[in-house]
Amino acid sequence: MYKHKMAVITLKIDYSLCDACGKCDKVCATKALVLNKATGRLVFKRHKCVGCAACIDVCDKGALSFE
Ligand code: SF4
Ligand code: SF4
Repeated sequence: MYKHKMAVITLKIDYSLCDACGKCDKVCATKALVLNKATGRLVFKRHKCVGCAACIDVCDKGALSFE
């Protein structure tokens, strides 16, 4: 029987390090992480995140991590 195990991922965003460059938004293939240009804040949609860590890898400020 096929069983689908959902990964529950929480992405921690450290806004003291984030400069709203938008690189993480661009690499997120599922649009789980979207930069709101008006506020400079990232919107994380947990149900869309596949845990690929591309956003963490691309952030050269070290502002992203898994919790
Ligand atoms: S790549 Fe890092 S610094 Fe740039 S918007 Fe994303 S979290 Fe912020
Ligand atoms: S871990 Fe992957 S899917 Fe999740 S927010 Fe980051 S880039 Fe998007």
